[in-house]
Amino acid sequence: MREGINDIYCSLREGFKGDLLRPGNPSYEDARAIWNGMVAKRPGLIACCTDVADIQAAVRTAFDSKILTAVRCGGHSLAGFSSCEGGLVIDLSRMREVTVNADARRATFAGGCLLGSIDTATQKAGLVFPSGVVSHTGASGLILGGGTGWLTRRLGLSCDNVEACTLVTANGCIVRCDSRENEDLYWGLRGGGGNFGIVAEFEVKLHALSAVTLVEGLTPEPHIQRLLEFWKEFMADAPLDLKWNIDLRIAPPGGQKIPRELCRRPVASSSLVWTGDPEAGRRYLRQAISLCNPESVNQRVVSFLHLQTMADFCFPHGRRYYTKSGYFTHLDDDTIGRLLEGLGSIPSW
Ligand SMILES: Cc1cc2nc3c(=O)[nH]c(=O)nc-3n(C[C@H](O)[C@H](O)[C@H](O)COP(=O)(O)OP(=O)(O)OC[C@H]3O[C@@H](n4cnc5c(N)ncnc54)[C@H](O)[C@@H]3O)c2cc1C
Repeated sequence: MREGINDIYCSLREGFKGDLLRPGNPSYEDARAIWNGMVAKRPGLIACCTDVADIQAAVRTAFDSKILTAVRCGGHSLAGFSSCEGGLVIDLSRMREVTVNADARRATFAGGCLLGSIDTATQKAGLVFPSGVVSHTGASGLILGGGTGWLTRRLGLSCDNVEACTLVTANGCIVRCDSRENEDLYWGLRGGGGNFGIVAEFEVKLHALSAVTLVEGLTPEPHIQRLLEFWKEFMADAPLDLKWNIDLRIAPPGGQKIPRELCRRPVASSSLVWTGDPEAGRRYLRQAISLCNPESVNQRVVSFLHLQTMADFCFPHGRRYYTKSGYFTHLDDDTIGRLLEGLGSIPSW
């Protein structure tokens, strides 16, 4: 039988160490907000877990009561999967502990970590866990869906670097999943998304890296088609140390390194990251920016933490976001034509 939210609150209160927030509680409004302001759901109860026993208690209560339930790490699901209307949110945002074993190049971190919490801890030892490009993104949602970022070409997806997970299953049990124990779950968790249970802790591989060469530049509209064709040929053979992202956009009305003639004009904005020896990368970077406006080019060596946080301000919390995305197996002429068509219809910067 379905229980009311008050019954669920009362049964969960026994022994739960974190906060249980209901509408009306002074902390409720902040706690219910997720990154995408377009998703304004009002859960009946937010269970802010402090440890794995709290997660187990919340999961068991959800299971017994059959209440609509959502799990939240960083709250960055664009579709708002980490909230629900009237139901229970199991919130892991107080579980952000990271432990680094520098000698073994391994880390363990809790299921509520943001990417920034992991980067800050691992960089103290000059090590990295390959993840996404915005530091306030939740690690759990990102890893469980695969996880791409600046280091993907060189080090694989985030989920490729997961050695083991500690999971709370739907019946509230704790299981370990790795290549020897519960291998099927371990396989599913690395890219299969949520819904296999709640990951309380990840164990991951780390890699040595503390600085990269970063080059940014703008290509004016008449050369964008040639740039995309060049990118396709060039990246097919480029070393894995090179990552080259291109955004088609309208250049802002002003700012550092934006030549006056490109302001408010359609451009291709390139960001290139070279993770290897800077001297060895020089040749590739020079070739790659050959179609950029020379005045717009900015090349420098930056710390890994700078790289990981430089886009944070572009994606503030609470705006009403709507996005669509797709994967291409290759970039053919028709796709390039469509991309250029799309660029022509962007209304603003
Ligand atoms: C600004 C921004 C930048 C992004 N950049 C990148 C990027 O560079 N690379 C990339 O690959 N993706 C990127 N993404 C996409 C991002 O990886 C997904 O939106 C991801 O789901 C966010 O994770 P989260 O923990 O914040 O999400 P949440 O909204 O908290 O959760 C998302 C889903 O994961 C489930 N979940 C959360 N925690 C757990 C857990 N511990 N155990 C089991 N299930 C759980 C939830 O139930 C929900 O279904 C970005 C998204 C945003 C908004």
